[in-house]
Amino acid sequence: MTQYIRGKSVYETHPAESKLFVDIDENEEIDSGQPYWIIKENDGITIGVLNQGFFKIDCSGNFTINDIVQGDIFYVAANGNIVRLATGTDGYQLTTHGAGNIPTWGTPTYGSIADLIFEERICIKCNKRFKIGDNIVLKVIEFDEDGNTATVPMHEQCMRLPLQKIIIKREIKEDYWYWDYEKGMKKRKRIPKMIKKTTEKKELKKGYTIHPETGNFMFAGRVVDMEEATVITKVEMSEKIYEIKEFIIK
Ligand SMILES: [Zn+2]
Repeated sequence: MTQYIRGKSVYETHPAESKLFVDIDENEEIDSGQPYWIIKENDGITIGVLNQGFFKIDCSGNFTINDIVQGDIFYVAANGNIVRLATGTDGYQLTTHGAGNIPTWGTPTYGSIADLIFEERICIKCNKRFKIGDNIVLKVIEFDEDGNTATVPMHEQCMRLPLQKIIIKREIKEDYWYWDYEKGMKKRKRIPKMIKKTTEKKELKKGYTIHPETGNFMFAGRVVDMEEATVITKVEMSEKIYEIKEFIIK
């Protein structure tokens, strides 16, 4: 039973609920637009304005007052309630999972042993394949417009070999602007530049089939020729574009 309190709080039934609110028309109800404060047993504490919004500290089944301990943190759940996240194991890191997801504690990740991997299998200077156990050096060839450092691998003993010209084929990139909901700001990333290409494709006309045993083109039970059964249509496709760049390796 709800007790509308004016100066005191009374609990009579379970779950006990106590409401404190502004009751301008004295009808003992929270009316739209009126501020309220509700404490409900086994549920939580809600502070709000009716039909405008609320803020609720959820205590339903998650924890009791005795469970809250030093190091706990609180986050907003999907339903807008404030809920508890117990402290993580020593050494864990709090990880966010993007807008609309709740944070979790987890093992921090570090780079693995083989965290530097490149596609090249051949030394740029001697043209011999790399073998397990080879010592290699990376030669910086440029800084690209994304701020990355481009390198090529070579044997340590090949460092002093004469100049070498290499040709690298790589994607052309362009700006892509988008709204970052998590940070609340516009952001830019680099994406591969695409071009639209129109190609011709031969298609089977509607209603025409291929006989699975004879391979004949069929229409309405009779054999027809390919001319009749097919039509050439234009299809638009997106393709990445590349640039060819020459580097002189010293
Ligand atoms: Zn080499």
